[in-house]
Amino acid sequence: MTTTVSEAPAGPVVDNPWENAQRQFDDAAALLGLEPGLQAVLRQCKRELIVHFPVKRDNGDVVVFEGFRVQHNLGLGPAKGGIRFHPGVTLDEVRALAMWMTWKCALSGLPYGGAKGGVVVDPKALSLSELERLTRRYATDISVLIGPESDIPAPDVNTTPQIMAWIMDTISMSRGYSTPAVVTGKPLAIGGSRGRNTATGRGVAVITLLTCKRLGVPTSGATVAVQGFGNAGTHAARLLRERGCVVTAVSDSRGGITSPRGIDVDAAIEHKRRTGSLEGFAGGDAISNDDLLELPVDILIPAALENQITSNNAERVHARIVVEAANGPTTPRADAILERRGVTVVPDIVANAGGVIVSYFEWVQDLQSFFWAEDEINRRLETMVEQALTDAWDQADARRVSMRKGAYAVAVDRVAEAMRERGIYP
Ligand code: GLU
Repeated sequence: MTTTVSEAPAGPVVDNPWENAQRQFDDAAALLGLEPGLQAVLRQCKRELIVHFPVKRDNGDVVVFEGFRVQHNLGLGPAKGGIRFHPGVTLDEVRALAMWMTWKCALSGLPYGGAKGGVVVDPKALSLSELERLTRRYATDISVLIGPESDIPAPDVNTTPQIMAWIMDTISMSRGYSTPAVVTGKPLAIGGSRGRNTATGRGVAVITLLTCKRLGVPTSGATVAVQGFGNAGTHAARLLRERGCVVTAVSDSRGGITSPRGIDVDAAIEHKRRTGSLEGFAGGDAISNDDLLELPVDILIPAALENQITSNNAERVHARIVVEAANGPTTPRADAILERRGVTVVPDIVANAGGVIVSYFEWVQDLQSFFWAEDEINRRLETMVEQALTDAWDQADARRVSMRKGAYAVAVDRVAEAMRERGIYP
């Protein structure tokens, strides 16, 4: 087993997601014995676009925003990956997220490379018309990269089907004809796919149940804590509760609630829909996001942002299984600690792939103008996430490494093979 990651040094550690993503890749390259030239290519991003663009506020003031679109690799096909709107977005974060998309698509067998975009903004501080102007201007500024054959964005943190509709319309206006396949996660009325909105959470729930089955953990009555109550977290919590799990804690960016007897997830979703957050929800006791991670539960689902389980708290994670609905929630140092402590971590590129898998279905449906029934989409989604989990886990068992390393070995090997076949231009 190759472990190039040392465990927690003294004092709190601040993690850079891009350094962590490169470190995870380097571990996989070492495991596979990847040739140095190919390793040098794959540990960098192919294209990194930084844009600064003005947006008129409703009061007439002009504010300049910073945004990014990064394509990590195009070996297997057009670039694919979401766009996030968040005040904490950085170029390094977007680079890491783009690289993770490359591995996620490869592991799921999708004909895509990896990309990601982001704007440094708190969308909750904008009016709806300000948000529309920001989205349309950002879409215009990254239109040099995006397109149905080149790079296809999708929702991510704080971006919605409505925002995808504005991107689709903006690109269509400049081309003079409708291009639904330029973006996925759209509303149904303009070429969105049935099942896309629930796909990430559905994939997380399916993966969680399959993981419990393979480990011999009964799912009926299994306790679950979910950090992050956005698109992925809400649907994962709802579906797991439907399948007999007891969701004992949920949280959003403002804090969470816990109840050992279980939370009424539907009521929590309804409260969040009505008020915009979980604050004031009466179905349990208040709990902080940090404390939620340390609850004595069977299954912990980080579904918010990266760097939540770190070398600072990994010793205190009590869950037996961690299912990464978020991208990059566990740092490499924390991974080493969890591995030593016998915690099974289902890595992000396996656990949350349901979203991009149904994005792929949406893109195929748009290109063919032929739309599928929801049960067919859900069936195909379940087959594909199960295959990715099996490939990653079998590889991990064969190499006697963690599931993350097994998943990376499969994904990096697939991308490397495509790169070798294509050769180096010119
Ligand atoms: N943002 C999601 C992810 O991180 C979905 C990406 C997509 O559908 O292209 O996987």
